[in-house]
Amino acid sequence: MTQIQTGLLILLLTFLGVVGYNVYLHETTPNEISYTDFVDQVQNDKIKAIHLKGGSVKGEDISKREFCSFIPDVPSILPLLNEKSILITAEKDSENFGGTLKSMLPIFLILGGYLIFSRMQKGDKPGFGKGKSSSFHPIKSTNLTFDDVAGISEARVELIEIVESLKHPDKFSSLGGYIPKGVLLQGPPGTGKTLLAKAIAGEASVPFYSIGGSDFVEMFVGVGASRVRELFTEAKKNSPCIIFIDEIDAIGGKRSGGNASGSSDEREQTLNALLVEMDGFDSNQTVIIIAATNRPDILDPALLRPGRFDRQVTISLPDVKGRRKILEVHAKKIVMARGINLSDVARGIPGFSGAEIANLVNEAALMAVRKNKNAVELSDFEEAKDKISLGLERKNLVIKEKDRRVTAYHEAGHAITAKLLPETDPVTKISIIPRGGALGLTQQVPLDDKYTYSREYLENRIKILMGGRIAEEIVFHHQTTGASNDIVRATEIASRIVCEFGMSTAIGPIAYMHEQDGFLGASTATKPYSEKTAQLIDAEIKKLIDQCYTETMELLTTNNKFLHKLAEALLVNETVDGEEMEIVHHCYINELEIEKNLKNKLKEG
Ligand code: ADP
Ligand code: ZN
Repeated sequence: MTQIQTGLLILLLTFLGVVGYNVYLHETTPNEISYTDFVDQVQNDKIKAIHLKGGSVKGEDISKREFCSFIPDVPSILPLLNEKSILITAEKDSENFGGTLKSMLPIFLILGGYLIFSRMQKGDKPGFGKGKSSSFHPIKSTNLTFDDVAGISEARVELIEIVESLKHPDKFSSLGGYIPKGVLLQGPPGTGKTLLAKAIAGEASVPFYSIGGSDFVEMFVGVGASRVRELFTEAKKNSPCIIFIDEIDAIGGKRSGGNASGSSDEREQTLNALLVEMDGFDSNQTVIIIAATNRPDILDPALLRPGRFDRQVTISLPDVKGRRKILEVHAKKIVMARGINLSDVARGIPGFSGAEIANLVNEAALMAVRKNKNAVELSDFEEAKDKISLGLERKNLVIKEKDRRVTAYHEAGHAITAKLLPETDPVTKISIIPRGGALGLTQQVPLDDKYTYSREYLENRIKILMGGRIAEEIVFHHQTTGASNDIVRATEIASRIVCEFGMSTAIGPIAYMHEQDGFLGASTATKPYSEKTAQLIDAEIKKLIDQCYTETMELLTTNNKFLHKLAEALLVNETVDGEEMEIVHHCYINELEIEKNLKNKLKEG
């Protein structure tokens, strides 16, 4: 073929690419609605879930119509979204990187076209899946170890077993051990999932194959599935090894059934190929597939079945200790001035992910270089932080100090109520690190599996749920919407006590189907009831709630010094575990003792 012919062909390909691409863009852009419309729909419960990227929002309304819109001020609408219990997923706004990529797609198309074309000239058949030489080359060994990933102590224990099975597959299976096949790392972007997968490969010194979920779904139809097969063939030849699939949600999102667009067909084929490959291992082939996602909620359940990604490891944003450890890892790479306290730096960057911390250290070093310093000083960290935070503020990642305080008292309120009341499950963890839609969490783990609940246990659950809002009221004298889910759950328990468990004396042991209670389900024995009974039921529920409220208010007011102490500990450390909470409780009890003794002495004297 002459050069002119080649040139003409490329031109033609470009033209087709651009035209085709614009048609594609046109088809997939959802209906854009105004912000006012968006708020309207939220208020009228027309929307159940949204995806946020910076101020851009998209999703589907209840009649499955896709929409997109722009929110001028995201923080201001969050309370409403919470109140309506809308499932929010969010991703970092990467300076509209997606948009840039999209606009560059035609260029990629040309390049792709050219590549195929030049392959053809060399005598290869087109299509990546068919060439003789594989397009997958593992990174031989990654050299990274668990020491390069800081603040993951919880995940580490689970992952060591995987390293062991890669290192000694024979020993592992001869002992009857079941070699894990798939591990799903889930967590926000930048929390070190990729790093961790590489560290596993490094620890086990095995080859590491890495591919992005979106790499599978290419513009050439039918390539995704064959790429999967090719990847697995290649990996099996080099077993034991690791296959890492980043952003698995790009191919592993729930299969949509009705949606007949070409790209989703392509995705489904790719996903099916992946499932077939994962199911078809011999026991002597140790290939561990590690996948990462920040959207576990949208994954196809088929991926999570036994024998597939049945190990799930959650990696959350680091707390203050974790941030200090990550800072230490990255600070090793730069020259630091003496006397910098990394704990202080860590405290000043709540909400930062590992990637943002790495970026912070890097920026601080750049600041120092710009000023011709020979070591990085605290002021450089401060400046770098301000620079990054300004960017983050826009992205709504930095939690406002006031919100942190309210959350700390709210969670401390739950935890203290649980701690001080008898017949409750022990508190194992309290945290004010936001995750999902929630600003904080208080975790209680029952000592044993409970099958029956006493009335006291149930009432105390109501009180624990109310403890959050009551603590806010005691300290800030106002109510926030942050507690709305607690209130819903408390009301639910109260109405079950009255209607389902027959524990109210005024009504007696009769199970009634309360009108609002969908949750009772049709299987429960129900009894039709009169208007009068309905009023009685409502009155009983209200009485129960009011009584729980008053008693919890009393409990927390009497113990408000404990409340302040625990909230303070949360504000400093961001997470407090069960043991640490015991220590705070101990300090509080000691102080009470001392006060009492003092008073007695004063009386005597
Ligand atoms: P993810 O895959 O979760 O999006 P990455 O593994 O790509 O995150 O993290 C990006 C970078 O951020 C890493 O290369 C590393 O420099 C830094 N980083 C993230 N988490 C950690 C951590 N826990 N310890 C040390 N560095 C981290
Ligand atoms: Zn709460």
